[in-house]
Amino acid sequence: AKTGRSHDEIVRLRKELLIPNLSISYDRPIKFVRGDGVWLIDDSGRAYLDCFNNVCHIGHAHPAVVEAMARQAATLNTNTRYLHDNIVAYAERLTGTLPKELTVAGFVNSGSEANGLALRLMRAHTGRENAIVLDWAYHGTTQELIDISPYKFQRKGGKGQKPHVHVAPVPDSYHAPADWAAGEHGKRYAESVAELIATMQAKGEGPGFFMAESIPSVAGQVFLPDGYLKEVYRMVREAGGVCIADEVQVGFGRVGSHWWAFEAQDVVPDIVTMGKPIGDGHPLAAVVTTREIADSFNNGMEYFNTFGGNPVSCAVGLAVLDVIEGQDLRRNAQEIGNHLIAGFRALQQRFEVIGDVRGMGLFLGIELVTDHKTKAPATDFARAVSNSARQRGVLMGTEGPHDNVLKMRPPMIFSRRDADHLLAVLEDTFEAVAATG
Ligand code: PMP
Repeated sequence: AKTGRSHDEIVRLRKELLIPNLSISYDRPIKFVRGDGVWLIDDSGRAYLDCFNNVCHIGHAHPAVVEAMARQAATLNTNTRYLHDNIVAYAERLTGTLPKELTVAGFVNSGSEANGLALRLMRAHTGRENAIVLDWAYHGTTQELIDISPYKFQRKGGKGQKPHVHVAPVPDSYHAPADWAAGEHGKRYAESVAELIATMQAKGEGPGFFMAESIPSVAGQVFLPDGYLKEVYRMVREAGGVCIADEVQVGFGRVGSHWWAFEAQDVVPDIVTMGKPIGDGHPLAAVVTTREIADSFNNGMEYFNTFGGNPVSCAVGLAVLDVIEGQDLRRNAQEIGNHLIAGFRALQQRFEVIGDVRGMGLFLGIELVTDHKTKAPATDFARAVSNSARQRGVLMGTEGPHDNVLKMRPPMIFSRRDADHLLAVLEDTFEAVAATG
């Protein structure tokens, strides 16, 4: 049965009552009324397979999360100025998933806040402001983060590049110059970071930090070439900067083989930021850093965050870790991810439009091109696939500078059956879109 206001009325009220820059997915918007595991249910009772939502990491309305949240909310919710077990228990568990150097946590309420705190830590430690970020990166919604997010400041509505911001090209192997040897992409792309550092040094300056998503997502689900981060981290540190890994989208075991996607590059960042999946939908986020950097930040000014690290949020964070570990969901992500990648590759044999298939665990991308040689983007095709999949009850997104990369980040509980369902729908969808030309 339909519930609440009509779609048209909500659209009208949103326009009247809300900040107008909010966007709505799909040509015909969807109104969801319930979430259950991998499914989202709309107001007509139709269930959609959610292959996009990065946030409900262990599934929508996970009973363990709901229970932990409700129990703690019914007992006590205060702030960090009172002692509580949950915050130290959670800090212990969370830092336990990270390399041994990363021992000190800060709890906040959004990925943006985590990156903002990371920048404060960086400034306290280095006394510098100079940023090195990747092209097409997005790191958050505050002005200082927009300023280091080329995806925002270079596009419509953006105010351009600030003098302290230095942008390195996305190390995208699929689009690398044809004369680069395959094994050298990491090194070659790292050279452009060396050039940025040299430019700063020529002015008597140095980098404050290098920040990158461990798998650049807004740039189109781009997997860093082997050796890239190792080389960049070495150069940045040598020049006196710190290395920040933005794991807001890719963290918490999504890549399967590791807890953290930077581990696949065999590096240890100085600061790691986390958000989205950390609380299965509850607004929780975190920064984890080294003792040394944390001590630099401890300069006499109190750090207080009203909601950050409260007992309810920490109970939720603990419940999420319990489920990931208890149900071995990292292994599931790896197995199902490999099955999906094999399925995508099989589709690639049939559909010329699939230029590249990329993925690690349940972080997946399919780049669509009109020509395998020029790799010209098949943007309309990608949009049509996304809309057509939605009509078939499967949710995914499009991403990348040309919006021609199908982006999928299904929940960690995604089963073999769910994966086969996604593959079958993709096959139908590609056939249908290809047929309409
Ligand atoms: N970093 C990355 C990589 C993100 O994808 C996002 C959100 N899309 C953020 C930071 C900001 O997180 P939030 O929206 O929770 O502030």
